[in-house]
Amino acid sequence: MGPPGAGKGTQGEILERSLGVPRFSTGDILRHARRQGTKQGHEAKRFMDAGELVPDEVILGIIGEALQGDDARDGFVLDGFPRTVAQAEGLDQILEDLGIHLDAILNISVEDDEIVHRLSTRLVCSSCGIVLGPYGEMNEACPVCGGTLVQRRDDGADTVRHRLVVYRKQTEPVLRWYRASGALVVDVDGLGTVEEIRDRVQAGIGT
Ligand SMILES: [Zn+2]
Repeated sequence: MGPPGAGKGTQGEILERSLGVPRFSTGDILRHARRQGTKQGHEAKRFMDAGELVPDEVILGIIGEALQGDDARDGFVLDGFPRTVAQAEGLDQILEDLGIHLDAILNISVEDDEIVHRLSTRLVCSSCGIVLGPYGEMNEACPVCGGTLVQRRDDGADTVRHRLVVYRKQTEPVLRWYRASGALVVDVDGLGTVEEIRDRVQAGIGT
């Protein structure tokens, strides 16, 4: 868990490799379910095509299916999920039914001003989609494919501030909910290099 731009995806990918378990993010599993054409995938597609948020029951159904897959038999990493207390409660029920215990809730914390700086200076290639840190210049050529570098629409400073407000309001209560439930919540300082944060994560969850 952690605010947008905290490095969840990057650290999630590192954990996926080092632990040899699949990583599920809401976006990935929704796309996967759509491709597989499952009943729940179709349902999710309906909401996404209409530009609406996919309801929790649908997301939870898809997560529940993913967690029962063969590749998740030895464990899994959930990346950026659950986002709301309602999702956390739903996930808890699924895990209880499957007899699965969450080992740790990893929380990567980063100050708002740092997040705004990180995301509002991040550029993405309009051709190949590679994301560049706060080093490139707008409209410069992409170092990979020569395409034009642009800012993502939801990375503008005002939009990032809004996403942070939503995060603090919806997702921070999830952390309080886990702490109150007695789950192991590991807080990791998200300032530093990818390797520094990786080391803190590994020390925190004991891998
Ligand atoms: Zn490119």
